[in-house]
Amino acid sequence: MNFEKSFENFVQILSEEEVTPEISPSAIADIAKEYSLRSIVSIVSYAKGSEQEGEPDTVIPLFGPVPEGEAPAYFFRNNIAGQKTVTYNIYLYGDKQWNDDEYKSFSILVDILSFHMERFLLNTVVRESTLKQYLTGLPNSGGFLVFASKLCESGDIMLYDSFYFNLKSFGLYSRRYGIAEGDEIMKRYAKKLKGFFNKDEIVAHLGGDNYTALVKKERTKDFLNFLSGVDVYGIRNGKEEPIKIAAVCGVYAVDDSLKDAGQLLSRAAMALNYAKNEANKPYVFVNKAMSTRIYRQKQIEDRYEEALENDEFRIYLQPKVDTITGEIVGAEALSRWFCNGIVLYPTEFIPILEQEGMVASLDLYVLKKACEFISDWQKRGIPTVPISVNFSRRDLSYKRIVEEITEVIDKYGIDRKFIEIEVTETVSEDERSLMTSFLSKLKDAGINTAIDDFGTGYSSLSTLRDFPVKVIKIDKTFIGNDNLSKNDEIVLKNIITMSKELGIDVVTEGVEREDQIELLKGVGCHIVQGFFYDNPMPKPDFEKRLEKKYYSE
Ligand code: C2E
Ligand code: MG
Ligand code: MG
Repeated sequence: MNFEKSFENFVQILSEEEVTPEISPSAIADIAKEYSLRSIVSIVSYAKGSEQEGEPDTVIPLFGPVPEGEAPAYFFRNNIAGQKTVTYNIYLYGDKQWNDDEYKSFSILVDILSFHMERFLLNTVVRESTLKQYLTGLPNSGGFLVFASKLCESGDIMLYDSFYFNLKSFGLYSRRYGIAEGDEIMKRYAKKLKGFFNKDEIVAHLGGDNYTALVKKERTKDFLNFLSGVDVYGIRNGKEEPIKIAAVCGVYAVDDSLKDAGQLLSRAAMALNYAKNEANKPYVFVNKAMSTRIYRQKQIEDRYEEALENDEFRIYLQPKVDTITGEIVGAEALSRWFCNGIVLYPTEFIPILEQEGMVASLDLYVLKKACEFISDWQKRGIPTVPISVNFSRRDLSYKRIVEEITEVIDKYGIDRKFIEIEVTETVSEDERSLMTSFLSKLKDAGINTAIDDFGTGYSSLSTLRDFPVKVIKIDKTFIGNDNLSKNDEIVLKNIITMSKELGIDVVTEGVEREDQIELLKGVGCHIVQGFFYDNPMPKPDFEKRLEKKYYSE
């Protein structure tokens, strides 16, 4: 092969391939013969004042083995943007020396090589910066996952505990010291944090005041102790003020149930969530109950759509009864999920569907079924009562929800009066306008509405005053006490009197005992729903009750 040809090859390989030093041996192979090349070793050293100042030189072999303790035959040096110097050490076979021409043409080759080396080094910087949190310079979630994945591959991850933590009241510091100084405090905290870690461990800054870390199991106790108070300072009016920052922390003690690096984060995060919202403790370890709950939750999310299509949701009906006459005056539709041989109750799956924004499809499905039931009873000449259907507050933000409800009812050709829509009381001021518009639109469409779990929400009095509802359903907690007291009676009596004067009907739920019925009769509420009469039941059982129409003594 002639020189020009091998030179061309060299340039072509370097330009076409992805830029890594690994490809240089194939690019150089042909040329090596012409120049008696044994090895080319590049050494990157970091300049004073550069970001990596003080880091040891990096040795990158470009061709052949790295000779130990041997002076090179030639070397070339190249400076990159004042940040680093790359030295190319050239080793030849035997005691071969180049003539002037060879030296000159080889230095052109080195220039080309340097150009690609710069590209490679630049790529490395870019890659590394995408793995770092910009403020603190600690690894970010990407950097964490790269590190963690390697440990997972080698199996060494079993030697670690995984942490997810939040700083307590950091928002307060940002307000007290201002955003810029708040950032400085965060940097000081991150620096101290970094000081705790050994080379075989990692702490990553996920942004905001969220951090995650992998700590060797034998150091977990020390780390928890460390996190309970880190001393930093904040500068205000030119003066340094000491601050102690504590963290709330979730810990996952890695075990063989770990499937991938992502779970290091998600499991520790679940424990953190528990520590903050339920246990109110500075740290919580992941336990079995938590993982089972998460597993269930995941299953529910994953299977929901399919379950809806397969009719795995069944609608149970619970009668509403007039306690004076014993007559069934209505029913509430409550969903049950028959999932792989077990029955799931709404308290298990509704909150998850709400959280995932999937509950509207279930509520509309239940509505369809309720309409189907009514139309079926009417066709079969079974005495028909209105059915109430629960709609989640989450559905309110869905713009077309009222249109969809009316479309479903009309499609079944039943009188709109046979459907009642229940929503629970609002918990926040923000929801009030959504709620008002939802209830008014339904009212305009001639569909009755009820406020569910009345008395447990944000402001029950203004609910009564402002919302255009037909019914309130008094929550079971109002009659839940084992011994009903005078106070229970006074509260109920006043709710009921007020409602009646406002033209609102009252239903009480959760009625289980005779004494509750008596108390309610005494205060003027005689429509009830509860185990005293019946549990929620499948349609055929409910039809038998409907045919009799009355609960007799
Ligand atoms: P809710 O609408 O207040 O329904 C009444 C709940 O009380 C039902 O629980 C019912 O089984 C239960 N219950 C009835 N009588 C008694 C009694 O005498 N004592 C006691 N302790 N409890 C009684 P369930 O069926 O587990 O439903 C729980 C909640 O889940 C419902 O409360 C409702 O808010 C929600 N829900 C049920 N189905 C759906 C649905 O399809 N969509 C939506 N969005 N929510 C639903
Ligand atoms: Mg309800
Ligand atoms: Mg209720």
